[in-house]
Amino acid sequence: MLLGAPGSGKGTQAEMITRHFGIPVTSPGAILRREVELGTLLGIETAEKTKHGELVPDKIIIDLIEDWVRLHGAAGFVFDGFPRTIPQAEALQGILQRHRTPLDLALWLDVSADTIKDRILHRLQCQSCGFTTSEGAAGFSERAICPYCDGHLIRRTDDDASVLETRLSEFNSKTQPLADFYGKMSTLRKIDGNRDRDAVFADISRLIEQPA
Ligand code: ADP
Repeated sequence: MLLGAPGSGKGTQAEMITRHFGIPVTSPGAILRREVELGTLLGIETAEKTKHGELVPDKIIIDLIEDWVRLHGAAGFVFDGFPRTIPQAEALQGILQRHRTPLDLALWLDVSADTIKDRILHRLQCQSCGFTTSEGAAGFSERAICPYCDGHLIRRTDDDASVLETRLSEFNSKTQPLADFYGKMSTLRKIDGNRDRDAVFADISRLIEQPA
């Protein structure tokens, strides 16, 4: 499980974990973006919340995750952006018990306010595969094309300064309490997420290989 503020690098690290360890990842944020793009009922129901940086109701997210674990969870999984509230974390306990799967590791990516602002306000994301990069990296601002799938690299609509404020306040009031929740269960490991993606991933790899 990857926990941390918006821009803490959860999505980037989840993708690296999948590529390196072959563990499937689920991200409610990515699922919801796709649903909005496709104009499904779920997308229409949740668009107002995601657009303004508010959390989507717990019940919707919990049902999404329960379905996903039932369909894909047998060989283990990484959660990116779930849980984000105490009720979600409590519901997850039930889901994991029903599927007889223990939670091995809760990784908390710690980042400073400056890192968050800098990353979110310069982030580019591939519309097709979700690859994330920064405007300053590898000349992407001149040719905004995904190096993996040739999709368009675009700014996420919620990556603007005023929406970021709402996302941060949602994070501080609803997600931050999870540090205590998982701290008490001693599955929590804090990682300095201000470093480059390879340095962070080196720490994460070590923990996945030797969780104790
Ligand atoms: P972030 O970069 O803020 O971590 P995500 O891509 O994970 O963004 O999520 C985008 C949006 O999707 C959130 O701002 C929120 O509206 C919604 N969302 C994602 N995960 C959850 C969740 N676990 N509970 C409620 N809403 C969620």
